[in-house]
Amino acid sequence: MGSLVLSQTHFCNPLESGGLMAELKVKEQECFSLLKKCATMDEFKHLHAQSVKLGLDQDVRRAGDLVAACALSVWGSMDYARSIFDRTDNPNPFIWNTMIRGYVEKGEPEEALLLFRDMTEADASVDNFTFPFVLKGCAHLSALKEGIQVHGLILKLDFGSDLFIQNSLISMYGRCGEVMSCRQVFDLMPLKNVASWSAVISAYTKMGLYSKALRLFEEMQIGGWKADVSTLVSMLSVCAHLNALDLGRCIHGAAVRNLVQFNVIVYTSLIDMYVKCGCLQKGLQLFNKMSKIKNLHTYSVMISGLALHGRGKEALDIFFDMLAAGVDPDETVYTSVLSACSHSGLVDEGLHCFDKMRVQHKIVPTMQHYVCLVDLLGRAGMLDEAHEVIQRMPMLPNDVVWRCLLSACRVHHNAAIGELAGRKLFELDQQCVGDYVLLSNIYAQAQRWDDMAAVRKMMVQKCLIQVPGFSVLEVNKILHKFVSQDKSHPQSDEIYETLHQIGWQLKFEGYRPDTSEILFDVDEEEKQRLLAGHSQKLAIAFALISTTSGPIRITKNLRMCNDCHLTTALISKIFKREIIVRDRNRFHHFKEGVCSCKNYW
Ligand code: ZN
Ligand code: ZN
Repeated sequence: MGSLVLSQTHFCNPLESGGLMAELKVKEQECFSLLKKCATMDEFKHLHAQSVKLGLDQDVRRAGDLVAACALSVWGSMDYARSIFDRTDNPNPFIWNTMIRGYVEKGEPEEALLLFRDMTEADASVDNFTFPFVLKGCAHLSALKEGIQVHGLILKLDFGSDLFIQNSLISMYGRCGEVMSCRQVFDLMPLKNVASWSAVISAYTKMGLYSKALRLFEEMQIGGWKADVSTLVSMLSVCAHLNALDLGRCIHGAAVRNLVQFNVIVYTSLIDMYVKCGCLQKGLQLFNKMSKIKNLHTYSVMISGLALHGRGKEALDIFFDMLAAGVDPDETVYTSVLSACSHSGLVDEGLHCFDKMRVQHKIVPTMQHYVCLVDLLGRAGMLDEAHEVIQRMPMLPNDVVWRCLLSACRVHHNAAIGELAGRKLFELDQQCVGDYVLLSNIYAQAQRWDDMAAVRKMMVQKCLIQVPGFSVLEVNKILHKFVSQDKSHPQSDEIYETLHQIGWQLKFEGYRPDTSEILFDVDEEEKQRLLAGHSQKLAIAFALISTTSGPIRITKNLRMCNDCHLTTALISKIFKREIIVRDRNRFHHFKEGVCSCKNYW
């Protein structure tokens, strides 16, 4: 940047020449037009020195330019900007606002709030540009108390009707988890813009209130608003969570219509949506179409998507492509890589990646990575090795780690280690009903009936209640939710009649109900009745009534039980329908009687 460097001679002794004021003016203009072209801290410091020589830093307007250049550019330093700010007499609102904004944008929200306090104490006049950044600072810190105080001040100073301030209030309340206040500000706005809608939708999405987000999005559409990038990205995340593929496709269409160009965030959200809604192929297609604009998050989403679908080898290929493209991995992408290896039984590859992460990429393994490692070894039947990993972990193993081991012991019929894992879980007091089910199954496999009875008794004594299982299915863009033993659906009679008929066809296929996971002390017949009313079966029956072709896609909140797995596989064969179920752990693709998880989940 040679052109930026002002020669010393250029600036020396301005008094020697005539037309002093005019020449100073020229130099001032030259100096400040160069300021806009600054690209490094060194260049900036040089220009700052020149402006000090010219005495320009005493001019509040010029001081404002200097502070803005230093505080708001990527290369800028807040400490240096602060030193200029501190030397400025009577800084104007612009300088105060710039400093507050700089602190927020450079990830120092605490400093921003402290400076705002100084600003009010100094009786500097705040304006409508001050509050959005102060509120953003509160949002970053989830500082609700401070946010409410700022809101009070906004009302007191009569800035309550400013659109940008109102939108910032919505975002602040959303980030602080105050959904009521967030919505209240929105509802009271006489004039809204797209950003106002987007802020509430994004707040709902981040809080996991997907149905609320969906409803508001519908209202937005009805009102004739054209969704912006941020709204579409939020809605794609809603679809991914609700497994609402039809709706996701509509949002994709809206994105094509509304956006001039897809950026990396939109592409990545689309991939995430398709993959989580069970359309892995479509996700891969978009991923391959992205060519050069992929970032770490894009790779991470694709790898974890492949992991969920049990496509470990492809996940690893993409991971190595990513490294070859010079993208540095982080701990999240390694979690996806390790879980891809474990879901596909790639033990050697998984161990290799775990070492690579520690040694080559200097990432300290987190609890999540150890969970993957234990799962990897446990699934492969290497139970002693998995147990050894837990014993050698540098942190205290949590319930998830022990649960992984327990679950592997059930699959590989190891009562000794299973019992130990179960005991550890109960010691941690983090146990859930599923743990009792696993342990009792392990005892049953080992024919230790007394121990099995003891586990069941413990469960009853502790009054543990299972989270109700539910399954969600989308038909014609409407989501239908079924809870186990549900009779509330308008077509409930038809659904149970269909289930009854399916029951007969299953019998001809040699199906025997697997009641091992039902721990209620009821007779066999009642157990079978309970099994038949599992939410997944209700959802499948409804899908068979309401659709005649195409894959059936179901999302459920719990791990799939053995009986539902068995039944779904048989139904896929009898009715010649592909059934894709996303349970708490992964995707199961049932086709012609077999599941992609190879009966290990
Ligand atoms: Zn079930
Ligand atoms: Zn499966």
